[in-house]
Amino acid sequence: MHQDEVFDIAICGAGLNGLAAALAFGGPGNRTPLKVALVDQRDPALATQAGFDGRASAITQAARRMFEAMGVWDAIAPHAEPMREIMVTDGQTDGPRPALLNFGVEHQPSGPSAYMVENRHLLAALYEAVRAVAQITFKTGHKVERFSFTGPQAELHLTSGQIVAARLCVAADGRHSQARQAAGIETIGWAYGQSGIVTTVSHDGPHGGRAEEHFLPSGPFAILPLPGNLSSLVWTEDQLEADRLMALDDEAFLAELKRRFGEHLGAVRLAAPRQAWPLGLFIAKSLTAPRLALLGDAAHVVHPIAGLGFNLGLRDAAALADAVMGQFRLGLDPGGPQALQAYERWRRLDTVMVAAATDGLNRLFSNDIEALRFIRDAGLSVVERIDPLKRFFMREAAGLSGHLPRLMTGEPA
Ligand SMILES: Cc1cc2nc3c(=O)[nH]c(=O)nc-3n(C[C@H](O)[C@H](O)[C@H](O)COP(=O)(O)OP(=O)(O)OC[C@H]3O[C@@H](n4cnc5c(N)ncnc54)[C@H](O)[C@@H]3O)c2cc1C
Repeated sequence: MHQDEVFDIAICGAGLNGLAAALAFGGPGNRTPLKVALVDQRDPALATQAGFDGRASAITQAARRMFEAMGVWDAIAPHAEPMREIMVTDGQTDGPRPALLNFGVEHQPSGPSAYMVENRHLLAALYEAVRAVAQITFKTGHKVERFSFTGPQAELHLTSGQIVAARLCVAADGRHSQARQAAGIETIGWAYGQSGIVTTVSHDGPHGGRAEEHFLPSGPFAILPLPGNLSSLVWTEDQLEADRLMALDDEAFLAELKRRFGEHLGAVRLAAPRQAWPLGLFIAKSLTAPRLALLGDAAHVVHPIAGLGFNLGLRDAAALADAVMGQFRLGLDPGGPQALQAYERWRRLDTVMVAAATDGLNRLFSNDIEALRFIRDAGLSVVERIDPLKRFFMREAAGLSGHLPRLMTGEPA
């Protein structure tokens, strides 16, 4: 075993959140870049290939500002489709679907609240940006097999025999985070017994930048606009039904898809392989431990109903950068208790609120109980009639409310 050097920050996991965090600490979006090590067991180049992660993400206006500040938005922009309109319906798979809510450009005075981007393009842009930064040492193809948080520095023991030491370890190693487990941080949460089936379709007609969320009895069916005549689908079903749909051949699967999709965009074709993601909610009971900060899916996993999971992780990265840089610029320990407490205080409430809101929405809409349908439809029709309320919701959806970290205001950390 040998230890190369001591880094300021060692990030375990180079998924979307780990890559973004590396740039927030060591990239051009930081006025005094830190020395960062980024470790992942897989080669991120693999993850940028079509079919590896078929998901697309709704990137909020605040996240766009962060990407601009970190110098990656120019590479993402050609693949981003602005959401010009959002339509919400509540109905049956085959029956009528009254449109209950419509958000248009008039409710988004500071531009589109969000942009749809395929994850592979996000990963590719972040990956290339990280590789261009000399301050970031990128160790790919290295699994961290053991963590140590007991000394004056965190240590990541790699399967290659190397030890990466740093003043702070950032766990961006996903929902089964080994770093979180090594620190003894417990989680609370539950599985929804639902899967999110994800695929991309092409259609003859233009979507005009309209995102559609159809609340069907088994769960939300979202049609999300991508550049060109393409849409990304997030189709929530009970686990058993999702298994049945996934087992169908393409023709039968497409027939089921068309029942839910409708005919308003003309002929529809499958444009990518389908994938199913088991859905659940969990939150780490603490976001920090000595020499450790959790972010992204390692800290929280929420229902994709509002497309907020990655955006929450970006907020984590930006807030952690502010907390750490505040200490570093005072000449204090960037991985010490003050920075970690500031991060914990800042992110805990937002995380719990988003988890509770997405959980509540999913429970309220994933059923066909008449009384609940009445209440939710009445609530939505009230919102539909009040323009200032709609503008408020769009501001929330754009991620522009609350105390924003510097990167999310477009300023460097
Ligand atoms: C169906 C669906 C739709 C979604 N839609 C949206 C959306 O529209 N908008 C949005 O904001 N979010 C969305 N999300 C959520 C979002 O996709 C996730 O929150 C995000 O991808 C999580 O990224 P991450 O980097 O935290 O974790 P991961 O992507 O899981 O990355 C973890 C990384 O850590 C590495 N790793 C793990 N353990 C080790 C180890 N021991 N050693 C070395 N490396 C390790 C892994 O190889 C991996 O690269 C959606 C989620 C689902 C399921």
